[in-house]
Amino acid sequence: MRYASVVLDIPTRALDAAFDYAIPPALEGEAVTGATVLVSFSHRMAVGYVVGTSDEPPAGVPAEKIQPIAQVLAPSAFDDVAAGLAAWMAREYACPLPDAVRPFLAPGQKVRVTRAAPDAPWELACERTGAVDARWAALTPAANDFVPARSASRQRAVIEALRQGPQRVSELSATIPGARAAVTALERRGVVAVRSLRELRGGGDTTLSTAAAPRPEALTAGQRAALAAIDAAREAARGDVVLVDGVTGSGKTEVYLAAIERSLAVGRGALVLVPEISLTAQTVGRFRSRFGDDVAVLHSRLSAGERFDQWDLVRSGRARVVVGARSALFAPLAQVGLVIIDEEHEFSYKQDKSPRYHAREVAAELARARGAALVLGSATPSLESLERCREGRCRGVSWTRVEMPERPGASVLPDVTVVDMAEQFRSGGRSVFSGPLVDALREVAERREKAVLMLNRRGFANFLMCRECGCVPECPHCSTALTYHERGHLLACHSCGRTWPVRAFPDPSTRCPNCGSRYLAAFGVGTQRVEDELAMLLPPHVEVIRMDADTTRAKGAHQSLLERFDAAECAVLVGTQMIAKGLDFPEVTLVGVINADTMLKLPDFRAAERTYDLLEQVAGRAGRGERPGRVIVQTYWATHPAMRAVAAHDRRVFLDAELAERAEAHYPPYARLANVVAWGRGEKDVRSALDALAAAVRERAGDASGWEVLGPADCVKARVKDRFRRHLMVKAPAGADLGALLAPLVASLPRRAGINIAVDIDAYDLM
Ligand code: ADP
Ligand code: ZN
Ligand code: ZN
Repeated sequence: MRYASVVLDIPTRALDAAFDYAIPPALEGEAVTGATVLVSFSHRMAVGYVVGTSDEPPAGVPAEKIQPIAQVLAPSAFDDVAAGLAAWMAREYACPLPDAVRPFLAPGQKVRVTRAAPDAPWELACERTGAVDARWAALTPAANDFVPARSASRQRAVIEALRQGPQRVSELSATIPGARAAVTALERRGVVAVRSLRELRGGGDTTLSTAAAPRPEALTAGQRAALAAIDAAREAARGDVVLVDGVTGSGKTEVYLAAIERSLAVGRGALVLVPEISLTAQTVGRFRSRFGDDVAVLHSRLSAGERFDQWDLVRSGRARVVVGARSALFAPLAQVGLVIIDEEHEFSYKQDKSPRYHAREVAAELARARGAALVLGSATPSLESLERCREGRCRGVSWTRVEMPERPGASVLPDVTVVDMAEQFRSGGRSVFSGPLVDALREVAERREKAVLMLNRRGFANFLMCRECGCVPECPHCSTALTYHERGHLLACHSCGRTWPVRAFPDPSTRCPNCGSRYLAAFGVGTQRVEDELAMLLPPHVEVIRMDADTTRAKGAHQSLLERFDAAECAVLVGTQMIAKGLDFPEVTLVGVINADTMLKLPDFRAAERTYDLLEQVAGRAGRGERPGRVIVQTYWATHPAMRAVAAHDRRVFLDAELAERAEAHYPPYARLANVVAWGRGEKDVRSALDALAAAVRERAGDASGWEVLGPADCVKARVKDRFRRHLMVKAPAGADLGALLAPLVASLPRRAGINIAVDIDAYDLM
């Protein structure tokens, strides 16, 4: 008899261990690691995932007590190494085991057991997004005269949806309950035609003309050094880390491509992580043009079916290079030679829901477990990675930094000017654009070049502020500062989505809620306003393209705006942070940052690092071609080390100041930090739950050197959607095992209805 260790996926209970089941002989070949199975557990049926098998019966359990696996529901989605990685994540991030296993499952194939009533039989509810579902429904000409019965609301919904064009039946049924039955009925009446198309969904993504980057004739000295270090780490096969510290445009992507080529040559594939936002056709195109069909792409904008197909390409071994966002780490690639994380400093590599993992840390563990190398690339490496490279080791593997300080060929780093906006104001400048920026924009127009203007939207931009007391009106339900929208003259809350016409908030006379002053004024500007002012400033031959959350909502909009910018002869691209990343347009000669310092006011110890990273990234968009580039940074805080470092092209100016502050305040990279947030409707319950936890943590961590418990205190966002939010911060020495200390304490808290607790280890969002 064989036995399986099974992680149970029961939503209402956080079980922190795997359970043992017997594998009936009939299921021997199927009930393997990675399989989804049906088992009985304390008088109910439950779905579980096999995380290991053995010939030995589990110790300490009488043989007749061990239940058999009832059914295998889905074939294996992951191997033993992946199962080990899931267990590691659960420990490291103090999260429930099923949360850590779920990311490894095949996309769109989840199974749950439910029942309609407490005494009704258990039923399986399956998501089925396999390759079988490539069935397309389309309206026939008969649809024009067809009038569905008054009671047939689903048929009406299906016809309505199909008026936009043919759709997959699977997608219809994802949005319209009961769509399948309706499609069948409509097909019988000749109103809808269904065709089966066995195609690779999402295979048709177009690529920008600039995407098919040719292979360079020779690598630069920096690139060769990076490549040598990566080869050595890959051959050592123990998870060594290479940090490619290369200025923007120094050819990091080219290094990844060459390193992957060498890894493929010895039969090992690569996982390549890029930030979601820079996972554009341009990036993907560069990998496709080098590796063709060997590339699978995984990101959140794919439909469930598309994601399944890409995932299946990897599992079947047809694609050995996986390019994707954070979650591509969990793709079923068995032979891994390289894990590559581009823009490794990006904060989006930290997941903000359970499992709250950081891709860099999971990737390091994965590389170690699979005997691969981890490659981190950035122009502005995280302080954590820099510190580990300085020490040379972390968690038993070596960390090496390779510098690439120059751009290949004629392209040189741009010239950076920092403009003090307070000074502009004193000398009468009231425009969004400073004098130097206006002059530079006019030059771009004259020379028929291109410019990129970035408007920082994170932080305190675009708020209504009292000119007398500095108060910013907040949402009465969420304690989030309200943002001001010029079009429509509205105040909006970004937490709950409520809006108020300015005149109705807080009362019809629009006075300051704090001091009663009438001098409320918009502080900061929106992309819309920049776009309008540009149109007045520049001659009509300059195309102005705006890229922000509003203009990129539709699928493919991001892409088509970039294509317009690429095709234009002379254009200005105005956008939010999203334009800072990855764009590689050689004709851009000017980059302007409208408001560089807004984020510096956020209560977050990483605010300065964020600001510095963003400025370096956006500055790197200038002068990537033959013509030299120029960067103009507008700020009210010209003396800040981040501004001075960017202007001087000298990271040390920023690092020295920042590291001193981090050391002084005992923050990462010199410490680890966990943020425990509790929220719920009842303020008293939230308080007492967190007070109990704080007492327990204080007792356990005690006076151990380097441990510190801060709070509990109200979160910066003290109310969201009428839930009270309080938090507790735990600081620990850099190498400490925070998860091991916190997990049992949180698990032992008495459960209270309506109170949620989230443990965020190595937290990035402290608000
Ligand atoms: P990064 O990823 O560091 O921003 P890229 O890899 O995108 O840099 O390279 C920037 C530009 O330089 C690209 O257009 C790329 O094709 C080109 N490039 C990269 N390496 C070389 C090289 N060795 N010789 C010439 N051009 C190169
Ligand atoms: Zn006021
Ligand atoms: Zn709100």
